[in-house]
Amino acid sequence: MNDTATGIRAELDSFLSGCHPLLDRPEGFRRDFVDQLHDLGAFRVFIPPEHGGVYRRYSESMALVSTAAYHSLELSLMLGITSSLFLMPVARYAPAETRGRVLADFLDRRLLAGMMMTEPEYGTNIMGIQTNFRPEGAGYHLQGAKHWAGLSGVGEYWLVSARKARDTGALGRDVDFFIVRSDQPGFQFDHFYPAAGLTSITYGLTRFDVQVPAENKLCGPHTNIRVMYDILNRSRISIASIAAGATRRLVDEAAQWCAGRVVFGKPLTAYEQVQHRLAAMQAAGTVCQAACTYAGALLDAHQGPELFIEMLAANIVKVTATDLLQMAAHAGVQLRGGQGFRRDHYTGKAFTDSRPFQIFEGSNDVLYEAIAAQLIGEARKLGLATLGETLARHPTLPAPVMAADHLRDLPMATEDSQVDRVLFGKLISRYACIGIVQQVAAAEAQPRPELVASAIDYLRAECEGFQNERTTRFRARYSA
Ligand SMILES: Cc1cc2nc3c(=O)[nH]c(=O)nc-3n(C[C@H](O)[C@H](O)[C@H](O)COP(=O)(O)OP(=O)(O)OC[C@H]3O[C@@H](n4cnc5c(N)ncnc54)[C@H](O)[C@@H]3O)c2cc1C
Repeated sequence: MNDTATGIRAELDSFLSGCHPLLDRPEGFRRDFVDQLHDLGAFRVFIPPEHGGVYRRYSESMALVSTAAYHSLELSLMLGITSSLFLMPVARYAPAETRGRVLADFLDRRLLAGMMMTEPEYGTNIMGIQTNFRPEGAGYHLQGAKHWAGLSGVGEYWLVSARKARDTGALGRDVDFFIVRSDQPGFQFDHFYPAAGLTSITYGLTRFDVQVPAENKLCGPHTNIRVMYDILNRSRISIASIAAGATRRLVDEAAQWCAGRVVFGKPLTAYEQVQHRLAAMQAAGTVCQAACTYAGALLDAHQGPELFIEMLAANIVKVTATDLLQMAAHAGVQLRGGQGFRRDHYTGKAFTDSRPFQIFEGSNDVLYEAIAAQLIGEARKLGLATLGETLARHPTLPAPVMAADHLRDLPMATEDSQVDRVLFGKLISRYACIGIVQQVAAAEAQPRPELVASAIDYLRAECEGFQNERTTRFRARYSA
């Protein structure tokens, strides 16, 4: 078996290239496909060498997920769930003995694993969950119900979030994570959900009333809430790898299709509107790839003991990458016409499969508001007047370099309305991504100035659009 992440990625790439018909089946993956992934060592890329893996750097794991996304969006999410939401948090935060035992068992028995946070009544409000635990015997008694977890009903190991039940019956404010096995007494999978997309992965409702050993509780060097945000931020920012691989494939599919498809006697590529859509898709591909490279470098720099990575950067990368992925999928379907609206083809599947990326790992609307609220709060506290000055407080977010940059000088006014804050959050995200694209481009061995210029034009046009909308709303409010 291959012993480097790069070698495993190359083998996975070649294996997946040979099985596109299998990947594009509307009914999803077969279990023996998961065994083949294990045989190739795909999951070892997320596991440290002392536990049988080959993990060295976050960026290498992201590159593997990105390669998988080029072949199948569903496969990349399956790898993303198992890695970002189980294997890596366990490797980072489980007590040493538990970590060794669980990761070895995962590899030996060629398992799948995931995370259960969302509950029927609490999704976006992750701090409100009602699943609770109380000390009992040598461990904890965990009770509750979770739904929508990817790999529900098939994953063998789970990280389950819960709040501590006090003697009064009230629940503590902190959220803890426990490693739970699906074959233990009291773990009861209820039923599957008929998802509208990403159907190779299963979802559903699970109830549990289980006893968990004390050593199955994750713990970090600081508060548990920091562990939770560390896991979420890393997972959010890693989504850029999926968006990068998937947009690259959507661009390749669209370019090939448009060159070959003749309508009114001309190939589609001869039409200006088609070129416009292709350029937007290509811009999405360039931005998502830059976001992925940037995110990998940021996460590599945070190796070692737990550190609560920059939430602003994670949120900006997540919302921009997932919105651009969705835009590219829509454009791809449009260009492919009726042929694009099929679930047995990458583009047609991406149309539905890209959508929930804007919902899970933090709903984009909520994250946009959080981005604006964070920066507005910082500006107010420190007496900073402009967007440029306020962003400069976050040195890991590179400043855009543009001629006549009036966006940099936008005032950090208080945004009283939530819709205005969301709009401002969108503007901030696209503006920050201009800096990210420029920084990544500057370090590229083989520069691609036209692609970079076109991606920056695209992001800038989006910024101007959001700014115009803000101005229109402002005028409407004060002229009324
Ligand atoms: C394909 C898929 C895979 C998933 N995988 C997992 C998984 O592996 N593990 C897991 O635990 N969960 C998973 N989820 C669940 C997912 O994380 C939740 O659906 C998500 O967090 C939103 O929660 P909710 O569905 O309860 O929506 P709600 O919390 O009810 O929110 C619905 C919508 O309301 C809006 N909204 C909510 N709050 C606000 C606000 N404050 N301001 C403005 N608008 C707001 C947003 O647009 C939001 O999308 C998955 C979901 C899907 C669809």
